[in-house]
Amino acid sequence: MSKASILVIEDEAEIRDMLRFSLQRADYQVIEAESAEIALEKLQGRLPDLLLVDWMLPGISGVELIRRLRKDELTANLPAIMLTARGEEADKLKGFDSGVDDFLSKPFSPKELLARIKALLRRSGSEDSEQLVAGIISLDLGQHQLCINGQNVEIGPTEYRLLEFFMKKSNRVYSREQLLDRVWGRNVYVEERTVDVHILRLRKLLSPHGCDNWVQTVRGAGYRFMPEDIPSQEKT
Ligand code: CA
Repeated sequence: MSKASILVIEDEAEIRDMLRFSLQRADYQVIEAESAEIALEKLQGRLPDLLLVDWMLPGISGVELIRRLRKDELTANLPAIMLTARGEEADKLKGFDSGVDDFLSKPFSPKELLARIKALLRRSGSEDSEQLVAGIISLDLGQHQLCINGQNVEIGPTEYRLLEFFMKKSNRVYSREQLLDRVWGRNVYVEERTVDVHILRLRKLLSPHGCDNWVQTVRGAGYRFMPEDIPSQEKT
């Protein structure tokens, strides 16, 4: 039932296999990269919910990778757990301010791994049971279900991702390009007009409930989601 995706960056095939096995068994979606360079390429697409990064990698090290990601607005807050070979390395790393959220020393048990991942996902707000609420709109992130005023509403996958993004980052204006980067992924080549099409669809879906004007066009700048306080129509 959990669908969080985890990007595993580890050069040793054996450990990567073990990680994939444990994570898939726990129902996580696993993306693999055998180097930081490959990970950076994969991060141009849709972002995973969490990174599992080995410290010792050929080429760019795990620490350096995290440092780079923290400098990019898009990946600055991506939750990351660093795998280290010994406890003392973890101690050294903690002093580095590398931007890593948690450390796990090898060898570790799958149970410990899953506990750390769960805890970090919860802290970062990507837990599957999470619900986003804005006025009368609520999104169940685990079930991928949109609910308006207590009614389940059908929503297409792109509109869902768009609405999820807006609800997480409301009251700020995003350009079409920024929305493409964040909702479609950087390596997806679609025209900016595509954004307008899906914005229209989203409004259409919200309009019977009187909240289509929450998705606002900001002339010359882009779009913004501004939920208003509409009293719920539920019977008291
Ligand atoms: Ca390694």
